[in-house]
Amino acid sequence: MDWIFDGGRRCLDFVNTLRDRYTSGREQLTDPALLAEWLVAAGHAERRHRVTAEELALARELREAIDRLARGETKAADVRLVNQMAAELPVPQLQIHADGPQRVLRFSQGPVRAILAELATDAIDLVASNGLVRICASDTCGVRFVDASPKHNRQWCSMARCGNRAKARAHYARRKSST
Ligand SMILES: [Zn+2]
Repeated sequence: MDWIFDGGRRCLDFVNTLRDRYTSGREQLTDPALLAEWLVAAGHAERRHRVTAEELALARELREAIDRLARGETKAADVRLVNQMAAELPVPQLQIHADGPQRVLRFSQGPVRAILAELATDAIDLVASNGLVRICASDTCGVRFVDASPKHNRQWCSMARCGNRAKARAHYARRKSST
């Protein structure tokens, strides 16, 4: 799978698993196993977790809520979902073992939902800090990213994918008009 990680934020990399958003979109998370694969590829899990169909549906719902919020839409239902998910963050617990005290994490709803909770938390941080979320300037892309460039003028999701293509097109157009 051609995962891309150009969002500059974990929650935007998640949003970008629906590719080609300039049109109706191309779903990359078509199957629970692909979400399991993405969680590892994105560095959220060390091994593939078993993902249920319900968790996949929830993940996609959360992803679209994050997308709308990141683009400045503030639907009450989206705010509610992001907050509900963030509340599932694992909590640290102290356990006393024979070889000493240990810090363990308690998952309220399992490891997959715990990761979704982290993504929801990242989205809260992004939206609440008014992070500059942009959509790639290529009209055949739609990838979202946070513009952390010093002059706030980042245009492309990735120079390699969209920036160079645009440059080549501009160059070709210039040559054509000069002949
Ligand atoms: Zn792009």
